[in-house]
Parts: sequence; C-alpha cells; structure tokens
Amino acid sequence: MRRKLIAANWKMHKTRDEARAFAEALRERLDGVRHVDLAVFPPFFAVPVVARALRDTPVIVGAQDLWYADSGAFTGEVSPAMVRDAGAGAVIVGHSERRHVIGESDELVARKLEAALDAGLVAVLCVGERLEEREAGRERDVVGGQLEAALAGLDAARLERVVVAYEPVWAIGTGRTATPEDAEAMHAFVRAWVSERFGGPVGSALRIQYGGSVKPANAAGLLQRNEIDGALVGGASLEVDSFVAIAAAAPGDDGA
Ligand code: PEP
Repeated sequence: MRRKLIAANWKMHKTRDEARAFAEALRERLDGVRHVDLAVFPPFFAVPVVARALRDTPVIVGAQDLWYADSGAFTGEVSPAMVRDAGAGAVIVGHSERRHVIGESDELVARKLEAALDAGLVAVLCVGERLEEREAGRERDVVGGQLEAALAGLDAARLERVVVAYEPVWAIGTGRTATPEDAEAMHAFVRAWVSERFGGPVGSALRIQYGGSVKPANAAGLLQRNEIDGALVGGASLEVDSFVAIAAAAPGDDGA
C-alpha cells in the first residue's frame, strides 16, 4: 500500500519567526503522526529556517516553485541548485496559482519539472481543471493534457520522484471540496494514464494527492479512499493544530 503524504503549502504566508514557531511546534507533535509522510512548503525565504528546525526528522521541506535554468538573467527566480542549497528536498511545480494567476504554460511547467528531477528533488506536479472545464465535461481532457505536457518526455525511472497533486481549481481556497467519489475517479484516471504510459508498476507506485479546501472535517472522507494518497493543504496547513489533525485523519500504510 502507498504511504499517505500530507503536505502543507503555505503560499505567501508567514514570516521567518512564524515559520520557525510552526516547525518547532510540529516537531513536538510528530509522535502522533508517524503513520504518514509529512511535507512543508514554506515561502522560499523561510525554507532554511524550517529545514533547520525540522533537521533530523522525517518531515520533507520543500520550495513552492523554482526556475529551470542553473543560473542567469532571471530576476526574482531561484534555480534548482538554490532550492537545494536552501535546504529543500522537494519542490511544487505547476500549482494552479502559478498556472492561472501568474500565467505559466504547460511547456514551462514541463521544463521546471525536468529541472527539479535533474537536481535530485522530489517534485509535486499539480494538475487540475477549472470550473468551466468541469461543467463542460472536459476535466479528463484538461488533466490528461497537463500530464502529457509534463510527463511525456520523462523515462519511467524518473517517475519515482514525482508526486502528482490533483487540485481542481474550483476547490482551491474556495471552501468547496471535490466529493471523495469525484476526487477518487480523477485519481483513478491519473493512475491509469500513468500506468498506460509508463507501465503498471509505475502507476501503482505513484502517489496522487488531492488538494482543494482540505480541512480536518473533510480529511478522513477523502484520505480513506484507496486512490487518494494524501493531501496538499493550503489554508488549513497554516495552523499546526489543523495540519496535524488532517494528518491524524489519514489511515497508515497498514490501512488502519
Ligand atoms: C493549495 O494551496 O494547494 C490548496 C489546495 O489550498 P486550499 O487547501 O486552501 O484550498
């Protein structure tokens, strides 16, 4: 069975002091959530602080984005090596806010994913459809297209360090969550897509997180689904109590 991965995406929240306080509090609470894997994605400038506070724990610390080049004239961006140097072992690519607020294309997301993997990082690839696309019954076309653009150029061995996060755009930060049935159906679609392209064992091993208004109150219903291998949590990850409550709601890899 795949181990559930519960990840905190803080987006543009928290100062370094606030980030350190969260990390220190989380460290104290780890004994209650050792049945799952945890990751924290602070704003880039707080990555070193959080990485230091969580050193020697199994918690993965990651960056929320990166640029694909090693160095150069890319004002405001950070390279894969800088992400590693900050203390991150993982990175999110293709978050819907970057795709739809900042305007990143599928091609850019693919270059970032490849650069992250080249640098030895774990990459959380976000995919998901907008409301109008779901209402038009096009959600599988959209998600399939995003997978094709990001993954088609990779060989199967590289999928070992990829996590897919299915995040329907209409559910992010809106308080509106996909039903466990709808989420599970899309996760099954993603897994089938990956299995067909890269082989059954790669599809079976792939972790697919759900993201979109996950809260302590709805976490168990989502995370108990076999196809849902964890959660990428925004708003409810800003407080240690709610983040830990979501992790605690997930079954362990023995299903309990
Ligand atoms: C996210 O940031 O990826 C996310 C899913 O946010 P929220 O949980 O706030 O909807």
